[in-house]
Amino acid sequence: MTDLLRISGLVARHGLLHAVRGVSLTVAEGETLALVGANGAGKSTLLRTVAGAHAAAEGAVVLGGDDITRLAAHRRVGRGLALVPEGRKLFPDMTVEENLLVAGRRARPGQWNVDTVLDAFPLLRPLRDKRAGSLSGGQQQAASIGRALMTNPRLLLIDEVSLGLAPVAVDAVYECVDALIRGGATLVLVEQDLSRAMSVANRVVCMLEGRVVLDAPAADVTRDQVTDAYFGLHRVPTTSAPVDTPQTHPTSERT
Ligand code: ATP
Repeated sequence: MTDLLRISGLVARHGLLHAVRGVSLTVAEGETLALVGANGAGKSTLLRTVAGAHAAAEGAVVLGGDDITRLAAHRRVGRGLALVPEGRKLFPDMTVEENLLVAGRRARPGQWNVDTVLDAFPLLRPLRDKRAGSLSGGQQQAASIGRALMTNPRLLLIDEVSLGLAPVAVDAVYECVDALIRGGATLVLVEQDLSRAMSVANRVVCMLEGRVVLDAPAADVTRDQVTDAYFGLHRVPTTSAPVDTPQTHPTSERT
């Protein structure tokens, strides 16, 4: 498989806090990568830095062979990157359809439009004219993913797929995600639910204290191994990205 995204030595900070500390990883075309890790591990900052919503302090982000590290976020959308942010961030007073249309205004050419999004995510069809702010959490998450699809991305980054959703809503959102995977989409999913993440992903990357501590095909690691990496209990070899040595005192650079 060809690498669609290549991140090398990426560093991102919040003031003096090093949230992402030299992360290197690749995402192949058609791959579903689950990005897991404890609260504060740096997952959201990594996704936001890749999407251009947060500035990289060091390192490079290469999409489809082009270095996009210094490109503004909206230009990255034009190159085929879309982020579904944590907390959905829909326009609450606009309808579902209006939220979709706003995202589609400067879309790249491609398969996704209001009708194809509603076909792919049937739970949204009866909600088309409903205010986004009136939807349940699961419905909003589906609408948020649909909105990102409207840009016709080559790579979709979804932050906290199921956070805060009722189990039935998680199932509904994962039906949407499964439909994308079956359609050959390239996805990076940040997911707190390890079992769920490992059931849909080809690859699992675990972050700890801003670093990648595990990067392996989902089929080659057990849930226990990922859990150990999650808590920094022991190291698991990576397949594609260099592993940084976890710090003995990982919080020492924090403010
Ligand atoms: P979570 O699952 O809690 O969202 P995460 O793995 O996505 O965690 P980040 O949200 O990227 O991690 O946070 C990484 C570190 O950066 C944490 O220590 C967090 O407190 C800090 N951080 C995140 N956003 C900001 C911000 N806007 N200002 C200051 N520090 C921040």
